[in-house]
Order: sequence, then C-alpha cells, then structure tokens
Amino acid sequence: MTRAIIADPDLPVKVATGKRKRPCISLNEGCIGRLYTGLPMWCSVNPAIRAPELDRLTPAVDPGRIVVVGGGVAGLEAARAAALRGHRVVVLERRPDLGGRARLAAERRGRERWRLYVDWLRDEAVDAGVEIRLGAAADVAAVLAEQPDAVILATGSRLRDAAPPSGTPLLDVDTLLEHGLPTGAMSDPGGTPPEPAGRVSRALVLDDEGGFLAPTAAEVLVAAGCSVEIATTHTSVGALIDPTQQPFVLRRLALAGVVQSPNLAWVPEAGAGIQLRPR
Ligand code: SF4
Repeated sequence: MTRAIIADPDLPVKVATGKRKRPCISLNEGCIGRLYTGLPMWCSVNPAIRAPELDRLTPAVDPGRIVVVGGGVAGLEAARAAALRGHRVVVLERRPDLGGRARLAAERRGRERWRLYVDWLRDEAVDAGVEIRLGAAADVAAVLAEQPDAVILATGSRLRDAAPPSGTPLLDVDTLLEHGLPTGAMSDPGGTPPEPAGRVSRALVLDDEGGFLAPTAAEVLVAAGCSVEIATTHTSVGALIDPTQQPFVLRRLALAGVVQSPNLAWVPEAGAGIQLRPR
C-alpha cells in the first residue's frame, strides 16, 4: 500500500467512494529508486509528489478554449488539469492511440503497467470533459479552427543524437521499438547504400542515456536475431536505472548474450562507420 498511496494519496477515500484511483505502475523509478540513491522522492505517475501545488487546482478565473497538441502523458495531464479548472479542452493526437512514449514503454516486457497510467489519464480527461481526437494532425489550420485562447504544445521529447553521421546505417531507438528492424532501407545519414534488414546480423547500441533505452533496444535486436553490443559512456550499462530494477535488467542482458561495454565514447571514422574509444 505504500507505493499505491504515493501514486494516489487519496486512494482510501477514492476506494471508499467508488472513484477511480491513480494507479501505481510498480516500477520504482520515482519513489524507492530515488530514495535509495539519496535523492528526493518523486513518482512516475503523480506529478504532485514533486510539485504539491498541482494537487490544488483552483477554478480558472477566465475559462477559455485550450488546444493541447499531443496525447502523451504530459498532454493528457495538462488537458485533465485544464478541464478540471473549467476550461474547454481538445487534445489533438496525430497517432491512432494515446500515450506517446509511455505507450511504447508499455509494449516492453515487465513494463506493461505504463498502460494503466495512460488509460487512467484518458478516462480522467474524458470524465473532466476533454475532447480527444485521434489521428488528428495539429497543423496551423487545425489549431486555429478551434479558436483557442491558449495552445499547449506537448509533442514530447526528441532523442539526442547519439552518434555523429557516419557511413554506418543508423536507427533511432523509438523507431526500432515501434516498428522493429525495417523491412526496407535503414536510416542512412552517411550516404552509404542502405543495408537490407535481412542482412542485419550484428548491432551496436550507442548509449549516452544510461537508462532503459539501450537495454530495451538490445532485447528487441536480440529477439530479431542480431548479436548485440551496448557501448555506453556511463560506468556500466543501465547505470541510471534505479537500483531496484538494475540487477534484473543486467541479468536479462547477460542471459541474452548482450556484450556490455562501459566507459566508451565514439567518433566517426571515414568509410568505416564508428570508432569506439575509452573515455
Ligand atoms: S514511482 Fe512508480 S512505483 Fe513508485 S509510487 Fe510512483 S508509480 Fe508506484
């Protein structure tokens, strides 16, 4: 019950009154994981743990029309809060489903509970009166057609460039997670003829994030039949994964035969792709 009440401190009252509770997704990334590393506690699904004022929503002085661009976690939280304050809110999401990168995370083994949070946010937003439009491109005309008083841009984060352009075909992790290895050409910023997916047998995962991205990508690549090495700038693979989860992640990588190469940087090498160097 400890984590459940971190995720939703009003849980007992909500259960007693039949209301929907904000679900703990049990991944420890904000609460126990941060406490173990001497950091203040956050919560992956409850932003009010970090910013308590978010739990004290007051009616808007001048309610208006708000367009939220993006139906991921941030967009849905913003839409829900705005609607609860009395604004008329529409969410425009260009994909056919909600959740953004949380939805991607929920598709991975052991992280399925991200879906609970996305579903809770959707239901809460709809109950608060938010109109959600899926498959809706938020171009200028579409946004202005709503005659908004405010527009909230919640289109998500972008991956940093993990490697400089080189002759080696590159694939970003979101694309890999969403679509698997491509059946046609891989992204090829260096201009070398693309390699057909069927011939991809070795994959190098370049990681300067230190979290779940590289291990998750490695597992997808192993499942696709590749031998995989993770080169990371950190002192270990998954160095920033919380300590309650890290051992399981590293064990899975070891069992999958993923080579883990820490303390490395990478530089482009003419004609040969990428050279790894000690940091
Ligand atoms: S950080 Fe995750 S595990 Fe911890 S209380 Fe929040 S949702 Fe639950």
